[in-house]
Amino acid sequence: MSGGSMADAPVAGTSVPVQTADSAAHTDHLAHNYHPLDVTIESGNGAWVTDVTGRKYLDCLAAYSALNFGHGHPALVAAAKAQLDRITLTSRAFHNDQLGPFADALAKLAGKDMVLPMNTGAEAVETGIKVARAWGYRVKGVEPGRATIIVADGNFHGRTTTIISFSNDEDARADFGPYTPGFVSVPYGDAAALEAAIDANTVAVLLEPIQGEAGILVPPAEYLPAVREITTRNNVLFIADEIQSGLGRTGATFQCDNVGVVPDLYLLGKALGGGIVPVSAVVGNADILGVLQPGQHGSTFGGNPLAAAVGSAVVELLATGEYQERARMLGDRLLADLRALLGHGVIAVRGAGLWAGIDIDPALATGRRVCELLMERGVLAKDTHGSTIRFAPPIVVEAADLDWAVDQLEAVLLELGAH
Ligand SMILES: *Cc1c(COP(=O)(O)O)cnc(C)c1O
Repeated sequence: MSGGSMADAPVAGTSVPVQTADSAAHTDHLAHNYHPLDVTIESGNGAWVTDVTGRKYLDCLAAYSALNFGHGHPALVAAAKAQLDRITLTSRAFHNDQLGPFADALAKLAGKDMVLPMNTGAEAVETGIKVARAWGYRVKGVEPGRATIIVADGNFHGRTTTIISFSNDEDARADFGPYTPGFVSVPYGDAAALEAAIDANTVAVLLEPIQGEAGILVPPAEYLPAVREITTRNNVLFIADEIQSGLGRTGATFQCDNVGVVPDLYLLGKALGGGIVPVSAVVGNADILGVLQPGQHGSTFGGNPLAAAVGSAVVELLATGEYQERARMLGDRLLADLRALLGHGVIAVRGAGLWAGIDIDPALATGRRVCELLMERGVLAKDTHGSTIRFAPPIVVEAADLDWAVDQLEAVLLELGAH
């Protein structure tokens, strides 16, 4: 596995001038829909990135788990480079020689028999919604125009107008209506509430097995098995959005594996493109995904040969199980180290595999402030919901680097007045 080394780490306490957005980032003509930390990255290798001044940082966000295999993974870069020289785009009007093998490999990895390739995660979610509705009308026999899908409070499934229609996050939703109807939201983690919301028009339940953007919320162990039992009994599809939780992050190929559940549809994205190109997919069996006929859904770029070549290389990395094992091992270590900070500026730690949500005592600082101070110490992380920060470095991260990152967090908390 590739990765940086401890020698690259900035020495704690060394003061390095922090670049400014004005001097380095040139953001004058960028829309304001993000508020990035004041660092301008130029290159990356493994779990480490380097900014335009030559300073190195440990990447503890990994592009929201799109970089599970790290920056510049040699096998993924080689697959992309080789495909760049052959052909990159054909459109689905013709076959290409990369897509079929990618679908075979991904279906096998997921234990399903059909793959529908798209590009972004939101497109995979939209595809899942369309498939569930078409299945509802064509197979289940729901009255035309009446299909509903049950989702969970606190969900994050992407940014399209339909998806934000069932978000509870006012920043994500306000002023973007009118909203798409047909969604019912219930409390996350409460199987009884979910069952009570099911009626004859319910076609699917759409859930994140762990709610990532909500703060790495891990539901009770019995929740997803109960959802599986309830959906099966009521002839309702169970759609698992594993776009962030899947593909190794939680110490398994899918978080559903960790709780012994097989959904009807997996929604995949982020790490499926190896951090190189956007690759997403809906994976399921032909009795469900097969409802779509030619002309009913598609994408100009979905399934392009470059994406398929990279996706195949990603599946090959996952097929050995070594990344899942590494995420489990390093994750146990990370969570144990973080739990040692409980009561010392940290009020809660949650997680699965190499994916941790850390609630900072709001009396000390905001999550944003903690992330700024971490950045000054060479660790890049991202806050969510006020005082939560998350650690989700690439799975290739070295154990010693992970320990060092937790040491930096401890130092930041002490600096902020924790005991
Ligand atoms: C990131 C994410 C999405 C959306 O993916 P995009 O590629 O940003 O469109 C959907 N669902 C979950 C759970 C995600 O984390």
